[in-house]
Amino acid sequence: MAIPEASTIWFNGALVPWHEAQVHVLTHGLHYGTGVLEGTRVFPTPEGPAVFRLPEHLRRLERSARMLRIPLPHSVAELTGATLELVRANGHQSCYVRHFAFLGYGSMGLDMRHSPTDTVIASWEWPDYLGGRALRLMTSSWRRNDPNAVPPAAKGTGPYLNSALARREATDAGYDEALLLASDGSVSECSSENVFAVRDGVLRTPPASAGALEGITQDTVLTLARDLGVPVRVENLLRSDLYAADEVFVCGTAAGVVPVASLDGRELPSEEGELTKRLAELYRAATTGGEPRYRRWLTPVHSS
Ligand code: PMP
Repeated sequence: MAIPEASTIWFNGALVPWHEAQVHVLTHGLHYGTGVLEGTRVFPTPEGPAVFRLPEHLRRLERSARMLRIPLPHSVAELTGATLELVRANGHQSCYVRHFAFLGYGSMGLDMRHSPTDTVIASWEWPDYLGGRALRLMTSSWRRNDPNAVPPAAKGTGPYLNSALARREATDAGYDEALLLASDGSVSECSSENVFAVRDGVLRTPPASAGALEGITQDTVLTLARDLGVPVRVENLLRSDLYAADEVFVCGTAAGVVPVASLDGRELPSEEGELTKRLAELYRAATTGGEPRYRRWLTPVHSS
C-alpha cells in the first residue's frame, strides 16, 4: 500500500519537508540492517489525539539500540518532545508513528564503529494494516530468527527480512498473514504481531524465548485480560495448541487486536470468539480514552 504522505518528517533533530528526508545510497543500515525501529500509534480521544504507551515504545527503542550497539544520539525525553512536535506539525488526529535509528553514511564493511547514527521520526495515517477482517493464517516454512542469532527482545531492522520472507510466502499462497515457528517447532509469532490462543477460558501466548518480540500490545492485552479476571499464561505453545484452540487472535500496534478465522485451512470454531471480541473492545476503549483506568497509557499530543 502506498504511504499516505504527511507534510513533515523529523530527521536528526529538525522537521524537514517529507521528500527532503533522504540518505546516501551507501548508508550502512541499508546494506547490513544495522538499525532499530518502533511503531507507535496516535488515537483520537475526547480530549484530542493521544499517543498510546509512548514511554514504553521509546524505552524499547533505547533498549534495542543498546543491545544492537547502535549509539542513540537522542534521549527518551528528547524523542518524546520530538514525537509530539511532529504529530502536531502534521496535524494528525490519528496516525502511525515510526521511530527509526540506523547507522548512516560514513564507512562500509561490517565494523560498526565508524558510521554516525541517523534518527528519524515519521508519521502517517494508516488505518487498517491487516485489512480489518478475521485472518486466514498460514504456518510459514521459514523458522523464526533463532534467539541465539539475533536477540528477539531487540526490535532491529535486519531481522525483519525473516518476517518479510514469511509474509511474502503467505500472501503468495493466498493467505493474509504468516505464523512463524521457532526452530524447535514451538509457536513464535506472526510476521509483525504476537499471537494468542484461548482454550477453556485460559489465554495463552508464547514467550520471548520462542523468538517472539516482547510486544507492547501483547503486554496491554495481558493486562486487560487479567483485569477482566481471565487466567493468562505466557508459555510455549505447539502448533496443535492453535489448531485445537477455541479462539486465536493476533495483536500488534499496527494491526490492533485481530481475530483469526483459520490456520492452515483449519477453521476456528467462529470467526471472532467471545473473549477476542471483549478484548478487542476493551483495547479500543483503552486506546481512545474511553476507560479512565487506562488513561495512564495515553500521552496527549496537544497539552505540552
Ligand atoms: N512481533 C513482531 C515481529 C512485530 O514486528 C511487532 C510489531 N512491532 C509485534 C510483534 C507487536 O509488537 P507491538 O505490540 O509492540 O507493536
